[in-house]
Amino acid sequence: MLTATEIGIDLGTANTLVYSKNKGIALNEPSVVAIDRDTRKVLAVGHEAKEMIGKTPGNIVAIRPLKDGVIADYDITTEMIKQVMKMAAKKIGLTIRKPNVVVCTPSGATSVERRAIHDAVKQAGAKNVHIIEEPVAAALGAGLPVDEPVANVVVDIGGGTTEVAIISFGGVVASHSIRVAGDRLDDDIVQYVRKAFNVLIGERTAERIKIEIGYALVDHDEMTMEVRGRDLVTGLPKTVSLTSTEIRDAIKESLNHILEAIRATLEDCPAELSGDIVDRGVILSGGGALINGMQDWIGSEIFVPVHIAPSPLESVAIGTGKALKFIDRLQPAIR
Ligand code: ADP
Ligand code: MG
Repeated sequence: MLTATEIGIDLGTANTLVYSKNKGIALNEPSVVAIDRDTRKVLAVGHEAKEMIGKTPGNIVAIRPLKDGVIADYDITTEMIKQVMKMAAKKIGLTIRKPNVVVCTPSGATSVERRAIHDAVKQAGAKNVHIIEEPVAAALGAGLPVDEPVANVVVDIGGGTTEVAIISFGGVVASHSIRVAGDRLDDDIVQYVRKAFNVLIGERTAERIKIEIGYALVDHDEMTMEVRGRDLVTGLPKTVSLTSTEIRDAIKESLNHILEAIRATLEDCPAELSGDIVDRGVILSGGGALINGMQDWIGSEIFVPVHIAPSPLESVAIGTGKALKFIDRLQPAIR
């Protein structure tokens, strides 16, 4: 059996992807781990665990071990990485033993947070760990010429963080990272439904609402959607009908925070690179790039062309994969 010796990992707040040099994307699973609270035993990882969120008996809890782009629960993150490497190996029919790993960290991560990611991957079985900044990986994955002395602007809207970066000559020239992204929009929707209807909905339902009828701040043909939750007054299940217009209003403030981060980064752009941005525009990646109307809305606000990466949910993983080719030139591992 062949051994995969070099892999890329996109350790996202919402989704974890594994890239193998010879097989491409080997795995794409939600960053969720179901554990037995009493024994701390891991019961499921990925899709299987995500299905359990909010539905399990008291002693089984579904945990998202990463929060805001960084590790919130170290042991469970390590266990999750171990499991996803195993699952990836099985899926592509290779063994993954002591691999060299390229993993990304948000550009806003502190050195302690970076070290935690490095150590967790190492503890999960990696031989060497190389770290790449997430926006650089996203840009590489989207096929931008990051090594050239031109401005490449990437807006990666993930689950926990939105990272905006201007990359030129292989490095980050200016960046902003904010802890407002897909999860926050879900949360806005939960809060809105509670306030407006006195009904509590789960986070998975909120995510479905966002994906189906969530719009950026653009005009659109109004849509409606019926969802179920628990009536906070009677305690009984209740169905409510939501419109895309009210959801757009519910997520408006968070969307504006994302826009502000983009504006702030563009303002930090060195003058010599500004012309490139006007010509080449901005590229959106991450799941948040798929919000209905996002491309048009941002374009109308910043007056430069806005593009969506070819596979926004996979850009970072593809980028870590491309980085495997110049692994020697990457920022040396911490130890
Ligand atoms: P991370 O890198 O943090 O793991 P991802 O780039 O995988 O995040 O994006 C996950 C986020 O994108 C989640 O908040 C998810 O709800 C959101 N998302 C995924 N698909 C869509 C879609 N079609 N429309 C809107 N949001 C989406
Ligand atoms: Mg990501």
